[in-house]
Amino acid sequence: MNVVCIGSGYVGSVTGAAFAVLGHHTTVLDIDQHKVDQMNAGKSPIYEPGLDHLIESYIGRSLFATTDYGVIYDADVVFIGVGTPSKGDGTADLTYIRLAAQSIGHHINPNKFTVIINKSTVPVGTADLVASIIEEVSGLQVNTHFAMASNPEFLREGYALEDVFFPDRIVMGIENAHSKKVMKELYFNLLNRVDYEEKSLDFHFAHNPNVALPTYYETDIKSAEMIKYASNAFLAVKISYINEIARLCETLGANVTEVATGMGMDSRIGSKFLQVSSGWSGSCFPKDTAELLATSQKYSCELTVIQAAVHSNQQMHEYVVDKIKRKLKTLTGKNIGILGLTFKPNTDDARKTQASVIIKELIDAGARVKAHDPHGMVMFQQLNAGLDVQYVTSAIDVTHNVDAVILLTHWDEYLLMDWSTAKDNMRSPYVLDTRNVLKQGPLQKLGFDYEGLGISSSR
Ligand code: NAD
Repeated sequence: MNVVCIGSGYVGSVTGAAFAVLGHHTTVLDIDQHKVDQMNAGKSPIYEPGLDHLIESYIGRSLFATTDYGVIYDADVVFIGVGTPSKGDGTADLTYIRLAAQSIGHHINPNKFTVIINKSTVPVGTADLVASIIEEVSGLQVNTHFAMASNPEFLREGYALEDVFFPDRIVMGIENAHSKKVMKELYFNLLNRVDYEEKSLDFHFAHNPNVALPTYYETDIKSAEMIKYASNAFLAVKISYINEIARLCETLGANVTEVATGMGMDSRIGSKFLQVSSGWSGSCFPKDTAELLATSQKYSCELTVIQAAVHSNQQMHEYVVDKIKRKLKTLTGKNIGILGLTFKPNTDDARKTQASVIIKELIDAGARVKAHDPHGMVMFQQLNAGLDVQYVTSAIDVTHNVDAVILLTHWDEYLLMDWSTAKDNMRSPYVLDTRNVLKQGPLQKLGFDYEGLGISSSR
């Protein structure tokens, strides 16, 4: 099949590469010449484990990249994977979606039935909006010349290839009979794992034939659009919940790691998204919860549970800052080292991370901040130009002459760091591990004053 993926970001570049591997002639289309050049040079436009190798292997064979919307003319299916950031009022900004729809309208082939699929996270009703823009620009008619579908993406940055090749489910909001056949054919190799072994996909994880085949869940378009928001907001609520439990555990002397393990053994609850943190953040949860909340308020159907989760999440960021303040007595004149600027490990995505909120609060309270991240430093610096932070290129350099080291993102390299040298480097040996991932006992033996979240610091 001839596939076009509009957008070469965290979703588009992975989706495009995946369809190329699955045997489709796939073109990734972006208005950003630099990203397109990178792909054509066999490089990934984002940091995502395994993606460089995949693009390098398939570019020029079944994978292509361009800025030319002319490729829409020959496409059987067109995925829209452009950004949908938050506007000031919390609702999703559909500017990029509208522009992509206009460009599709200008280039769609009137003699070919094209399926247009929203892969971006978009509010309920956006498929209708895209259809009406294409109709207006092209003079063609939805369901006669083209059809709409909603195929939300659930990949996790840092594990994107695993999630795209081995998803739990494919949600397909689709109503047109012909497009239903087209989309099932498009996903056939993935749904049935055809040629997975033969293609010897040497990603960063091993192909596991025991993983269950994905469920292909066909539903109506509006429900598919809602499934994405409802899922992301649910996960945000789950994290806020365990973080509140962590705060109570800390007060009562219980251990949130033990509690989460015990809770997760219940299959009704599940163990994922029960890991304590300084709060959820990143390019998806904040904007998706904000959009769902704003829409619910607009239609007088307020999702108060999401309102509470958002509020609780802000409290969690503040809780971390207060904890540091309590330990150091004051933040004025203190040197603080931050490990991790991305919202999770194995990504360079530093959009809207909790680190920016926490660092700002520390600086506002009079602290000087040094920070490190293995892949997210460049983006973080660009997006937070107003923050007076000293960026260091090696994790151990964060520890020089600081009064506290705060681990915000659990990159492997922080776990493996030479903590003995770190201790010698520090002005006072306080470490706050907001993910409870460091080895408390050995650190305490080294002489660290170790604290986690939701656990006792005296073990
Ligand atoms: P991104 O900002 O990384 O990428 C968007 C890309 O679209 C950019 O490269 C941009 O240049 C390009 N673009 C913008 N307007 C364009 C146009 N008119 N024509 C062609 N290209 C255009 O965004 P992302 O993180 O990949 O997210 C894309 C969508 O997917 C969002 O709606 C997001 O909520 C959703 N999503 C993201 C993730 C994630 O983990 N990042 C996961 C699931 C869903």
